[in-house]
Amino acid sequence: MEKNVAVWRAMRDDTYFGFAGRRKKRRSRLIAGILVELSLLLAVGVIFFYEQGQTAGRVVEATADGYIKWVDFNVSYEAMCKAYEYDIETYGTQNHLNWIELLAYVAAQRGGSFGVSAVEDIRTIAERILAGGTTMEEAAGDLKYYPYYLEAYSAVLGGFVGEYEIQETAGGAYVKKYGLKAFLPIAKGFPYSDYDDFGVSRSYGYQRQHLGHDMMGQVGTPIIAVESGTVEALGWNQYGGWRIGIRSFDRKRYYYYAHLRQNYPYQENLKVGDTVTAGEVIGYMGHTGYSTTENVNNIDQVHLHFGVQLIFDESQKEGNNEIWIDCYALTRFLYQNRSAVHKVEGTKEWKRDLDMREQTEESPVDGSGGCTGASESRERFPLQGSVTFSCWRACAASGRGSACGCAGSPA
Ligand SMILES: [Zn+2]
Repeated sequence: MEKNVAVWRAMRDDTYFGFAGRRKKRRSRLIAGILVELSLLLAVGVIFFYEQGQTAGRVVEATADGYIKWVDFNVSYEAMCKAYEYDIETYGTQNHLNWIELLAYVAAQRGGSFGVSAVEDIRTIAERILAGGTTMEEAAGDLKYYPYYLEAYSAVLGGFVGEYEIQETAGGAYVKKYGLKAFLPIAKGFPYSDYDDFGVSRSYGYQRQHLGHDMMGQVGTPIIAVESGTVEALGWNQYGGWRIGIRSFDRKRYYYYAHLRQNYPYQENLKVGDTVTAGEVIGYMGHTGYSTTENVNNIDQVHLHFGVQLIFDESQKEGNNEIWIDCYALTRFLYQNRSAVHKVEGTKEWKRDLDMREQTEESPVDGSGGCTGASESRERFPLQGSVTFSCWRACAASGRGSACGCAGSPA
């Protein structure tokens, strides 16, 4: 009886079978767990606000004098493909989705980083717009850095997608198309290998970073103009060897093709000031460079060095303020558009099989034109995403807000 009472008491008090001890332990574990979670949340919060602060700091610094000072182009290949798919699918419909706007929207949401969720984020905003739930202008209106990313990404991708005319057979008639009109820098059918080598260290001349993308192949591989533009530089440079520099018509991109073939580096007769069309053969792969003496093969591996520089202000063209972007994801994306070429018999030259024509409108907004230009350009080119950071700034300065014709109101 005594014993039974003790057991009953123990059961009542939960000390029997050690329940109370376990419950206490469980309770303290629960509290510890909650504390850990709270501190994790706090840490995430701190990191989030720190990152937001960093992003804000970078963007503010990046746009200090009215033009963009810095761009980290981190858009992933997968995100580019998804955004491009929506752009193509909706072309010619009421709700044409501009791929650059989709990418800028996702970047503005996430401070310019493109993780695995970026593709899903693009899908979410695109489907919301297509379902009539919102417009890009409305959705982006809440994102402070959307104008920055839109202008930055427009500078990178502005010449890639649009209307063009191309032959479907050699010498045949031109057919109107809409889509990717920029090409891979290596001609179709010529093998190459590459990896993301942007920013790795280089030591020729001085310790520096690799500001481009190397594509390894064979001597003589035809090099293709990625985008149409004007030849701005052609000749020897001690780093790049025989090289060609081509400026896009909107003057925002400078394409740099280097280490071209010894003795016969360029397409015949190509010279500074010439206009080239996207997909055209401009030169031939080699391994010249790393020498102050011209026409020297001083680079071990035969490759094309392909670089893309962004220019928002002419002061950024040469010197300490140059902006070179990582173009690995870009070249992966361009792989779907390779220019087919044929050998010109009896010469060392190759030529493209199918000619292309495109409208080469000058960029309608030059910053000084302010909002009126943007407004006009939106009417004339409603699909081009022509709202720029300069426009937003001009709007803000004029106090006219969204009346300027910029999307939404200035941040
Ligand atoms: Zn290189």
